[in-house]
Amino acid sequence: MDIQKALDIIEKWNFFYGQRVVRELWGDNPTDVQNQDIKDFNRDLGYIKQFMEELQQYRKVGTVERCMVAVKRITPLPAMISGGVYKCPSCGSGRSVKHRYNYCPKCGQAIDFVCKT
Ligand SMILES: [Zn+2]
Repeated sequence: MDIQKALDIIEKWNFFYGQRVVRELWGDNPTDVQNQDIKDFNRDLGYIKQFMEELQQYRKVGTVERCMVAVKRITPLPAMISGGVYKCPSCGSGRSVKHRYNYCPKCGQAIDFVCKT
């Protein structure tokens, strides 16, 4: 989805519908009612435009999928401990329990040793 394209479409709607349609379709309404309709329409479009601009900022950080991977990686998972060795719950990289890392040196997964000793 191209946010800039969506913003351009909103700008066109703003110009065409925000002014012209209200005047043509509701031309029988008093001018102050038309003006209020235009004002409300433009307020709503402004809200959507602002929302999409904010969304665009988030997308610069990363896609939703990439953010989900990052959140999973920083959420500690219990270490798999057996025979004095622990394995990373994500990549399976093994190390001695004497050298515990809070994060896997190989893949960066946060590891929880609290419940497993
Ligand atoms: Zn790992």
